[in-house]
Formats: sequence, C-alpha cells, structure tokens
Amino acid sequence: MPDIIQLLPDHVANQIAAGEVVQRPASVVKELLENAIDADATNITLIIKDAGKTLIQVIDNGKGMSQTDARLSFERHATSKIKKAEDLFNIHTKGFRGEALASIAAIAHIDLKSKQENNELGTHIKIEGSDLIFQENISTATGTSVAVKNLFYNIPARRNFLKSNSIETRHIINEFQRVALSHPEISFSFYHNENEVYNIDTGNLRQRIVSIFGKKTNEKLVPINEVTDVIEITGFVAKPEFAKKKRGEQFFFVNDRFIKNAYLNHAVTSAYESLLSSGSFPSYFLYLKVPTKSIDINIHPTKTEIKFDDERTLYAILRSTIKHSLGQYNVAPVLDFERSSSFDTPYSFKDKKFETPKVTVNPDFNPFKSEQQNVTHLSYKHEKPQQWESLYTGLEANNIEVEIESKLSNNTLFSDSISNSKTYQVHNKYIISGIKSGIVYINQHLAHQRILYEEFLESITVKVAMSQQLLFPLELSFNKSDIELIKEIKEDLESVGFLFDKILDDTIIVKGIPVTITESQITIIIEQLLEDIKNDIPDTSFSQLDVMAKSLAKSLAIKTGTNLDLKEQEEIVNKLFSCKQPDLSPFGKTTFVTINIDEIDKKFNN
Ligand code: ADP
Ligand code: MG
Repeated sequence: MPDIIQLLPDHVANQIAAGEVVQRPASVVKELLENAIDADATNITLIIKDAGKTLIQVIDNGKGMSQTDARLSFERHATSKIKKAEDLFNIHTKGFRGEALASIAAIAHIDLKSKQENNELGTHIKIEGSDLIFQENISTATGTSVAVKNLFYNIPARRNFLKSNSIETRHIINEFQRVALSHPEISFSFYHNENEVYNIDTGNLRQRIVSIFGKKTNEKLVPINEVTDVIEITGFVAKPEFAKKKRGEQFFFVNDRFIKNAYLNHAVTSAYESLLSSGSFPSYFLYLKVPTKSIDINIHPTKTEIKFDDERTLYAILRSTIKHSLGQYNVAPVLDFERSSSFDTPYSFKDKKFETPKVTVNPDFNPFKSEQQNVTHLSYKHEKPQQWESLYTGLEANNIEVEIESKLSNNTLFSDSISNSKTYQVHNKYIISGIKSGIVYINQHLAHQRILYEEFLESITVKVAMSQQLLFPLELSFNKSDIELIKEIKEDLESVGFLFDKILDDTIIVKGIPVTITESQITIIIEQLLEDIKNDIPDTSFSQLDVMAKSLAKSLAIKTGTNLDLKEQEEIVNKLFSCKQPDLSPFGKTTFVTINIDEIDKKFNN
C-alpha cells in the first residue's frame, strides 16, 4: 500500500487556522487593534466600510516593520513577541501566537504599508488569499497601516453566514470599546462608511469611560482602588441605582486584556447584595493587575478567557473591595430588618415620586369591534374603575358570556363552550373558570404575554399603532452601540407607537410612546428590547419585529402576584381565546390547562 499522509500546503493550513481566529469582521478588528497596541502606538485609527465586509483598516503610529519583517509577519507562527517556551508564562503583549496576520491573509485581500522611524522609505505589500502579489518600497508615515478587504471572499459559506450590517457593526463597536477602555493613554478614532463613530482623546480612565458611554455616565461611577500582594484592583463600579435590566456594561480587564469570567462576575454582583432589585445587573469597569506568572492566557483561542492560579482568593478580595467602596460612597441604604420584604420597591424607583400613570383614553374604544385596533388596557391597573367600565359600555354581562362562548367554540381546543362566565383568581397567579367539559386554569402572566404579543405583531404589520404624545419629551441616554441599534429599529419602534423627536450621539428624545406603556417604564422596556435583539441576533427583518413584539409583551404583561379584579380577569379570558394561538405564550410556554370533569369525578369515586 502506498503512503497516503501528506503535509497540507501552507495556504490550506492557514485557511483552516483562520476558521478559529476569524469568526467575523470584529475578530479582524480585534487582532489589528491589538497589533497596533503591541507596536507601542499612541494614536490608532480604525476605518471600516459596510460593517467591515468591504474594508477594515487600522492605521497606527507605532514602531513599524522592516521589509523582511513585513513579509514574515504573514507567515504562520511568525511572531516577534515570544521566542521560547518559557516566554509563554511571562506574556506582556496582546498577541503571541503569530497566527493572526497569516490567517487573515488566507481569507482576504491585504494591503499593508509600514515604515520604521529611522528609515527613509517604508514597504508596501499586497497579498490575496495567502499569495504575495507584490512588495515594493513606498514613502509613507512612520507606523503601520493594514487594510483588509473583501473578507471571506474565497469562502462563500462564511461570507453568507455573516449577519446584517447592523449586527456586525455592533460586534465591531464592542471590540473597539473593549480595546479603547483598556488603553486610555492611546487616542483612538473610528470611522464607519466615512462617518465618525468615535474620536477619543487620551485621558484618565474616568474620562475614557465617559467618552465611550456618554457624559451621564460620570455621576454613576464609584471608584475602586485596592492593592494587595496577589492583585491590584482599580476602576469603577456603577452605583446600584443605575443597574441595568440586562448585563451590558460589564468589563473585566486583566493586565489590560478584556476577559470574561463568570466566577469573578459573581463576586462583583454579590458585593451589591441587597442593593440590587432581582433581575438587574450592575455596570462595572474593573482592571485587575496580577503577576503574569499567575495566569494562563492560553486556554482559549480567542483569548477572552483566562485561568487564574487562585480564583478563590481573588473572589474574596474583589467582593470585599467593592462592598467597601459602595459603602464608602454611602450608596448602601439603611437596613431595616423590621420591614416586610414585600414593601421593597426596586432600588431605582426608591427616590421617584409615585405618579398615577397618564393615559389618553379613546372614549369610543371598543375592544370587540374588529375594525378597530385592539389595544389592551390591562397594564393600567391604577386607573379609575370607570375607565374599565368604559371598555364594556353597551355590553351587559350576558353579552360577554355570549362573546366568550362564541370565541371558545371557534377555537378547536375549546369545542365546548364555557358553562358560566364566572372567573376566580387564585394566588394572584391563575385565573380559573368553569367550562362545560370541566375547569380551565389560566396563567395570567403567560396569557397576557400571548395577548400583547399578538396585538403588537398586528400593530407592527398593520402599521397603525396607538401612540400617546408626551407633554414633555423624554431625554434618554444610551451608549453608542445601543444608539446604532435604536437607529436601525427606529421604524419598527414607530410602528408600535414610539415617536422620536431626535436621535443624537448618545441621547434619544422621545415625544410619544405606545398607549400600553407608562412613562416610568420606558427606559426599562427599551433596554430590555435592545438586549433581547442583541441576544437573539436575528437575521431577517421579520424575526427582528418578532423579537420586538416578544420583548414588549414580556416586559408589559401583568406579573404573577398582581391582583386582578373581575373585569380584568374576564378581559384576559376574552382576549386570550380570541388569540390566534391561545395555548402557548410567545416563548412557547403553556398558557392554560384544562381538567376534564371525568377526571375530577374519578377522584371522588373511592
Ligand atoms: P502576533 O501578534 O501573535 O505576534 P500577528 O500575526 O498578529 O501575530 O503578527 C505577526 C507579527 O507582525 C507581530 O509579532 C509583529 O512583529 C508584526 N506586526 C503585526 N502588526 C504590526 C503593527 N501594526 N506594527 C508593527 N508590527 C506589527
Ligand atoms: Mg497579533
């Protein structure tokens, strides 16, 4: 038998390696920015076109490369950053694997210009899919410019797999933010399709955070400072009242490298203890310095995970440092052990005056008229009862019963009609009603999610949303990547009833909101919505609308634990069974169960 094993040609090996290093344009951005930092640049410019799909260029004023180095930098395992195995345990640079440029060059068109300070001329290299097209002398500024064009041009499957421009841009912005946050001593600028996204001067850490996340961030920051033998912790945590609905602005940097670490994240969160309402997450920007020998950066190819020698000690130090700082800044509320926990309002609402929600009510509104927009009023629990009654004007109790019966009988799941329309609420959680075949138990929260979901979908697709004008436009601040996203879904938001006055750099001015929302809920709802869209990473505009409808439904549905009066219960039952798919919540959970009378009978047959 002949031998069959061959060494793969370099360009094939590089392409395979590229699969691991380069998942998307943002990975290229990360590698190029890190190379610029490793080259001691003090000024870095990032230029992208079409979310990096057409062009990603990083220009630095670092130490540059010689002709030979420039050529060699595209070889696999070619690096200036480590020389021997021991160096792996003492890494002070971002890169060390020597595979980024080789990988990127295997799957894109590269144009590199580089010049060292003492040289008159620089070098210019063009590479396409690992093939050197030319190398020539060029007159250029000291430093390096790497332009990566047509990423994945030779791997159509990968290119087609890329997400929409807005999603890829967001990934790039995230990478950019992480790098910029870890180096406030470097000035950065960032352009997308020739528009300036960031232009950040050098400064201290606080100034850097503020220039990335907006000026309102300044008042939120509590400084952290602790030096021990094993670790040095600096940075900021946000005051608890600014906690986010979802984990967003949470940054750990270990020796200036952005990392993710669930264990240390837990240490931070637990330092807040009772200061956070459940389901909210603190923002933090924490910089840990540990001896390079005590960490292993090597365990993950994209290097956001690292291993610490002694995680437990770090946990304890981190937790107590943050606790102490939060206490020092007098952000801990006075603990009152007598107080029943049920009186606890979410922390962020503590200092707000309680207001009755302002609602514009359409006096002619009739939820059962099909040509009218179905907008549920269930979220207005604090409204005067007359408004509830107005929903039912002209409808005697019997009419409602008839209404329910006809709707249930239209529904295949409910071929039997309801035997009487009386409903009961138990445990502030379930609505129970008798039906001919037995009993139906409805989960109020899940049922209302379904109702709102279908209503939002309808108003999104039909494009007639009920909006209430705000007396005073609201100014809400967001970070840049969220603003980008808001811009992109602006039309969808308008189709459910949001009205925007302006969308600025880090603020949006809202002048109208859907009638189903109260003013105090807006920030939480929008934050939740952005987070849901980010996490879902939808591809098509349809599913983006779907995510939005789901998110709004989830945020606005009456909660478990809410007491409902009879009319509200009936409204839920009515509306649930007029839904297209009443049996499941938008997230696929069962909204109601039925128990057959035979089953109940059996229990008594002993
Ligand atoms: P690594 O960063 O892991 O060493 P790369 O493939 O990213 O591997 O880069 C290979 C080498 O090219 C680096 O070690 C460095 O010597 C050189 N290099 C890359 N980018 C730059 C740059 N912007 N300025 C100067 N040298 C660079
Ligand atoms: Mg590198």
